[in-house]
Amino acid sequence: MEFFLPPNRASLPRNMIENSMFEEEPDVVDLAKDSTTFPALDPDEVTYEPRSSRLLVRGLGENDMDDDEEDCESSARLLGMSFMNRSSAHRSNSSPYTRQAPPRSCSRPSSRTIVVCVLFLVIVASVTMVFYFLPGCTFTKAGCRKPNKTNPMEPVYPISTNGDLFPWAQLRLPQSIKPLSYDLTLNPDLDKMTFTGRTVINMSILHSTNRIVFHVGLKRIFCVLMNKLFTFFFDVTVLEYKPRQQLAVNFSEELKAGQYCVLTMEYSANFSNAYDGFYNSSYIDEDGNKRVLAATQFEPLSARKAFPCFDEPAFKATFLIKISRKKTYMTLSNMPKAKSTNLSNGLVQDEFEKTSINMSTYLVAFIVADFTPNTKNVSETQVSVYSVPEKNGHTEYALTITSKLLEFYNNFFDINYPLKKLDLVAIPDFLAGAMENWGLITFRETTLLVGKKSSLLEKQVVASVIAHELAHQWFGNLVTMRWWNDLWLNEGFATYMEYMSLQEVSPDLETVLRFRALDKDALNSSHAVSTDVNTTEQVEEMFDSVSYEKGASILLMLNASFPGDQQFRKGIIEYLKQFSGLNTDTDDLWNSLTQVLSTHHMNVSQMMTSWTSQKGFPLVTVNLMGNQVTLTQEHFLLTSDNTTHTSSLWNIPVTYVNDSCSLAPECRQVFTLKNKSDTFKLSKNVTWLKLNYKNTGFYIVDYGKDGWSVLTQALISNVGVLTHEDRASLIHNIFALSRLGRVPFRQVLNLLKYVSADTETSPVTEALLQLNNIYRQLEKRQESNLASRMKNFIMIKFRNLMANQTWEEEENVSKQELRSALLEMACSLNDENCIQQATSLFKKYMQSNGSLRIPGDLQQTVFTVAGQSDETWDALFNIYAHATYDSEKRKMLKGLASTQNPQRLVQILLSGLSGSLIQTQELPLVISTMCQSFAGCLFAWDFIQENWDRLIEKFPIGSFAIQTIIKSVTFQSSTQAQLNKVQAFFSGLKERGSQMRSVQEALETIKLNQRWMDRNLPTLRRWL
Ligand SMILES: [Zn+2]
Repeated sequence: MEFFLPPNRASLPRNMIENSMFEEEPDVVDLAKDSTTFPALDPDEVTYEPRSSRLLVRGLGENDMDDDEEDCESSARLLGMSFMNRSSAHRSNSSPYTRQAPPRSCSRPSSRTIVVCVLFLVIVASVTMVFYFLPGCTFTKAGCRKPNKTNPMEPVYPISTNGDLFPWAQLRLPQSIKPLSYDLTLNPDLDKMTFTGRTVINMSILHSTNRIVFHVGLKRIFCVLMNKLFTFFFDVTVLEYKPRQQLAVNFSEELKAGQYCVLTMEYSANFSNAYDGFYNSSYIDEDGNKRVLAATQFEPLSARKAFPCFDEPAFKATFLIKISRKKTYMTLSNMPKAKSTNLSNGLVQDEFEKTSINMSTYLVAFIVADFTPNTKNVSETQVSVYSVPEKNGHTEYALTITSKLLEFYNNFFDINYPLKKLDLVAIPDFLAGAMENWGLITFRETTLLVGKKSSLLEKQVVASVIAHELAHQWFGNLVTMRWWNDLWLNEGFATYMEYMSLQEVSPDLETVLRFRALDKDALNSSHAVSTDVNTTEQVEEMFDSVSYEKGASILLMLNASFPGDQQFRKGIIEYLKQFSGLNTDTDDLWNSLTQVLSTHHMNVSQMMTSWTSQKGFPLVTVNLMGNQVTLTQEHFLLTSDNTTHTSSLWNIPVTYVNDSCSLAPECRQVFTLKNKSDTFKLSKNVTWLKLNYKNTGFYIVDYGKDGWSVLTQALISNVGVLTHEDRASLIHNIFALSRLGRVPFRQVLNLLKYVSADTETSPVTEALLQLNNIYRQLEKRQESNLASRMKNFIMIKFRNLMANQTWEEEENVSKQELRSALLEMACSLNDENCIQQATSLFKKYMQSNGSLRIPGDLQQTVFTVAGQSDETWDALFNIYAHATYDSEKRKMLKGLASTQNPQRLVQILLSGLSGSLIQTQELPLVISTMCQSFAGCLFAWDFIQENWDRLIEKFPIGSFAIQTIIKSVTFQSSTQAQLNKVQAFFSGLKERGSQMRSVQEALETIKLNQRWMDRNLPTLRRWL
């Protein structure tokens, strides 16, 4: 999965702004307590376990299976059952969301449509097994209750919905059963916003057991059927534990290892009106009509909301999917369509080929919509890009770049993409940036569609997201992490490959490596790349910059430790081939790479484990005496009181260049620092060393007082003495060291003396980002005098460079990036010239009635300036309301959200929450934009406190959307009063979010800001 990158350089890590998932509690009837809805069963039939569900279990042959559906219904009639569902009646009726609300069918028990039915059938593979079961069917209460309370070693079992003990006490499912294949039949009704489904799971028993535990996140409860008509039948109990969305089918007799069985379930549910599970979405077509569609988003924990399943990445199986639809719709799924059949009810049923490979449940996907494709054959694969019909003209670029990337990856990994087709679909309502479902990748419109006139910078966004998702077809889909604790194996690789592949495939995009995980990983609240994950919230929290960007960074560092790219490539090909179709953990990767890459100098496994098993990263201090170099490492740990120390050591491939050879790759030398401290000799005396050549290592370097002075002097004499990546890393490192309290801020200002002479994108944007952060903190402390002096300081440093920027179309990507950063900054600091130019461009744009295109990289600056005055805000809002092109629309929204007008701020926030004029998926973007200013952030903070429960209804606790919201609203706070407020609010949330890592991060960050300000305010007053 990919997050969508905000054009918000000042606050958030690149490529990440929001997460995709939204979870709802499953809404299932409490069988024990809801006596009014529980069917009146014949007492004979429920003798042994009156409060448990009873299921039909029979031995059956092929023919019996075909009768399942009929069995379910006729049995129900026979027993006079009313199927149970009280769920919707308990939910609020005042849903504010624009998505079509599903009908409350469950509150009308007479309707056939509310009938919810589950039929469990265990097919015993052999007659032997059937006969084995029959005589043994003695059922006692004791037999159903597993835990022995007298044994202190027994786990503590939770209580099921019906009050009985649930027989499984862990988040992860037991390993005794292995699902082999799923047959899914889905009947979505886009008018009623409901679907019915039938799931048949073929399973193999790996270890003898008397229960099957799996996941169900569907809202409707199973009815309980029993029927004595069948020859082979015995009773079972069904228990549910809602907090983990687990269902247990308990048998009184053991299922024996080596046997096979089949579980069949039928169910119905409403479409999710969030962004996960099988959810409904809509868009307004060219004629102003509302068109509805349904799509899926399952990663990480939502496949269970569309069909009952073993919803963990390690339970791979094959899938055969059938979906019915109206003739005016089309359907898509992971595999190509095998056939379409006209049904008697006038609908069409599409059947897809059975998946040719085993697949994890989170990668299953299906869509019912009226999209149109743009198709091309690439090698053995048919590639199609789908969009709503009127945007089909915007699919060409995606099709071209996908074709190139597919060929690149086929060759690079030396394994061909294994499916016959690859669909990329732009979904109008989609929270994540994109999702790598095998063969059916889903995207936001912004991350897939670009017009012909779009700038290279806009194309870079699309190309990067496609490159990321395509890389997942190998890293993630073909070889999958065993559990979410190793999510980085998916996301770190995909993030790394997006840069690596585009540098080869489309060098014109000038994609540069710029991962930003150091700041987060410097906090005590950070976590190891591979870390324990024991709750659903922790699963959500793994989707963060440590898994994505630190994961990518350590791969980059490993690759950079070898001469050339080929050795690393050989290593990952070996890994992919060795584990193709399987699940792995981090050790498997390092062991594979060790076989191919290790030399007598370096043991890959030993080296990389130090980076994946410990949180944080090292600070390397260098001391140069003539030709003797001493390197020392320690944990770069930001704590507000400097009391925490760790003994962590890393195996660091330290690279360095020196004053006589500093630019070309041949200048680079490597020394592996494994101990706390080590010394080596250079072949000759040098004036200075620059460590971490081109910033490819995941560490920070301190050169000591003299070292920094010499480097600063060298840059002042000649900016080009270091590569632009090295200059950017010096700027980043010195600000970080100032934050650590290791370097006085005077030293930072000293280095910045050279910056006015720098004209390259990465060092300039790094300096702007760091200075802007201090400026915003001063503003939020209401240190207006100092803030305005800081503003002047920034303007003086960059005025010339800002004035040199043009307002015409610019071809070069790097120049576009530089220009947009500089002008956004200039206008936000009220530079007159900038504001005048932007205002005049906006006027021309309005007068042209949309026919004039503002250059893509200038749009944000222009729309943000337009958002500042009441008159142009209204005009912009009007254009926004009618705009169709998603990437422009988001920039307009940022412009609107940057207003200082309180009424409008509130209006935007409430619209975002209700999803009326502003899609709810944009709420994290709105909040992070507002939080750039003091006034905006106050409103956002009030809004978050007042609407917290509704926010976590929309975005799961721990998800990237929630992480973004918390970070945006806190990360520039630096006073005790602000800290107290944040602490009071979050600690009061208890199970509604107080345990989140992002809350700890926020508190640590405020304390660190506070410490930095206390120390450096006098310096700022003196120097600015
Ligand atoms: Zn991803």
